[in-house]
Amino acid sequence: MRDSTGFTPDFAAVLGVGSIVLWPAGADLGFAAMPNLQHLLEANEGYALARANVADARPSRHLAVVTCMDARIDVFAVLGLHLGEAHVIRNAGGRVTEDVLRSLALSTHVLGADTVVVMQHTKCGLAGATNEQLRQRTGADLEFYPIGHHREALREDIHVLVNTEYLKPVKAIAGFVYDVESGQVEDVVRWEREAQAGS
Ligand SMILES: [Zn+2]
Repeated sequence: MRDSTGFTPDFAAVLGVGSIVLWPAGADLGFAAMPNLQHLLEANEGYALARANVADARPSRHLAVVTCMDARIDVFAVLGLHLGEAHVIRNAGGRVTEDVLRSLALSTHVLGADTVVVMQHTKCGLAGATNEQLRQRTGADLEFYPIGHHREALREDIHVLVNTEYLKPVKAIAGFVYDVESGQVEDVVRWEREAQAGS
């Protein structure tokens, strides 16, 4: 429920501190970014009416997809997935970072995923870049997980997944590269956990 200012009381209390500026929802204050945000809410009204309800939080295809945040990748369409079928974990580059491992710990142990797809893509901003360049560009002193070669980066990330002790429930992993121009997926590397004796 939103009140006339557009915020729930709790939300306003949380945000009404420091330098954050609150404004009434729908007010035209001349911020260039505001119409962009307003479009999101308007689009949501139509979506909410048409959406299929998914009661179960567990991905029905026991699948988690790790991929890049790139705006040209429609993950569900690319892989023929539907709402409720897969977890999608996105970051710059689609690299296996600490935070991806955190999500996968829950995806596998709590929500039943046993298959992971790591999908990088052509024309990625992290491909061919160096940490130093990206630190200069952003002013952020971070590990950016740049990509030298897709095959090597995928092997590296899959190696991390395979050797992360708490990801034992993962039975199969694939490394894909999505071509943002053709829309095709290249099946680059696969891994499967050997069946345990007696299982
Ligand atoms: Zn990318």
